[in-house]
Amino acid sequence: MPREARVAIVGGGYAGLAAALELAKHGVAAVVLERGALGIGASTRNGGSVSGGVNIGKSFSGRAAEVAPERAQALLADAADAFSLIERLIEDEKIACFWQKNGRFVGAWTPKHFAYQQQRLAGLNNDAQSGAFMVPRERQREEIASDYYYGGMVVERSASLHPALYYKGLLDACRRHDIAICAEAAVEGIAPVNSHGSANGGAGWRVMTSRGTVIAGDVVIATNGYTGAVTPALRRRVVPIASHIIATEELPADLAGSLIPKRRSISDTKRVLCYYRLSPDGRRMVFGGRARFTPADPVLCARVLHGYMSERFPQLKGARVTHSWTGNTAFTLDALPHMGEEGGLHYCLGCNGSGVAMMTYLGTQTARKIARVANAPCAFDAPEFPDHPLYTGNPWFLPVVGGYYRMRDRLDRLLA
Ligand SMILES: Cc1cc2nc3c(=O)[nH]c(=O)nc-3n(C[C@H](O)[C@H](O)[C@H](O)COP(=O)(O)OP(=O)(O)OC[C@H]3O[C@@H](n4cnc5c(N)ncnc54)[C@H](O)[C@@H]3O)c2cc1C
Repeated sequence: MPREARVAIVGGGYAGLAAALELAKHGVAAVVLERGALGIGASTRNGGSVSGGVNIGKSFSGRAAEVAPERAQALLADAADAFSLIERLIEDEKIACFWQKNGRFVGAWTPKHFAYQQQRLAGLNNDAQSGAFMVPRERQREEIASDYYYGGMVVERSASLHPALYYKGLLDACRRHDIAICAEAAVEGIAPVNSHGSANGGAGWRVMTSRGTVIAGDVVIATNGYTGAVTPALRRRVVPIASHIIATEELPADLAGSLIPKRRSISDTKRVLCYYRLSPDGRRMVFGGRARFTPADPVLCARVLHGYMSERFPQLKGARVTHSWTGNTAFTLDALPHMGEEGGLHYCLGCNGSGVAMMTYLGTQTARKIARVANAPCAFDAPEFPDHPLYTGNPWFLPVVGGYYRMRDRLDRLLA
């Protein structure tokens, strides 16, 4: 492990690796410090749906986040850029990760949700070039072999990939640039080099890890759903929420081929939503959702998710589950991803459940800011990153909030 680096990056997921890679492209040497094995975080565990949008206004706390129309436009434009960036990166670095640009179908849980989707359509198409269109309930079976939804929206500018192969591709690209990537190097403390303690006056940072200390000019916190006590001010701003995924056994070819005929990624408008698609080889259903709001036993989660899957696809009731896993996402109180600086430390955090493109992008944008090569400030780089006086980083309330959201989902459907 190097003892000095121009930039130390805490967290070795997509955001951390993308930041290191972009810094290297601008001649800035970085070290990536990862607490566990490489890829231990969400970046190898996700559903692999790649979105070029961002949810604006749907706050975790249930309150609508206030976003001025011009800012909403800028956020959507940057989210669209995030999609272009990941697509270009995969092409430039020749990352073999089953990149499939088949679009996404978002099923409407109620007619009201369908109407809301319709309202958002113009904004998505104008500001994020989403290529979105509505699919009424009568034509839903063109998208999905299920009558579970009240129609929905197709977003053509969406893709899917194999998350761990994309991660490996980023790692290989970093290695080609001779970037120091240190596994099992838990960052345990960060202090200004300047012994007076407060502002570091540009002198840099002492980053203490389980493998020794690194002196760095700048530090990037890229710990997302695993943000811990080392950065208490940031920990208070992100709520770690677990998400769970199962994969079925290989299905008979005709059954598998009939489920999602256009091979799109699917998600829905429920508060406690599910997301799913066929595996890249088209043989298995890969089905994700919040079986629980906290990390939980994979056998229990498999049972719950199998139930959700069978509600949507009764034809999969008898399908066996062969894999079940979990990981943490990071929600923010305004439902927006964030980058910026806190106490002199750079951060990119808060994927809100959708970070394959976004966290790659925010890592890259943070690197451009540090290297002073950004053409314009990133729309997600805003000074306000809300916290809550009663939240200090322990999400004890999640089971209660989760139960409440499930109840609201049921009620919405009953009233529909
Ligand atoms: C089950 C699941 C399904 C998902 N599905 C999708 C999807 O379909 N589409 C989508 O866009 N997004 C999805 N996501 C979200 C996406 O995976 C994340 O947004 C993205 O991987 C976040 O990348 P990251 O680099 O910010 O964080 P991570 O990949 O989580 O990396 C953070 C790293 O920081 C490390 N760390 C924490 N503290 C320290 C410390 N003190 N010292 C050193 N290292 C530390 C952790 O060990 C971890 O490896 C999903 C997430 C999960 C969990």
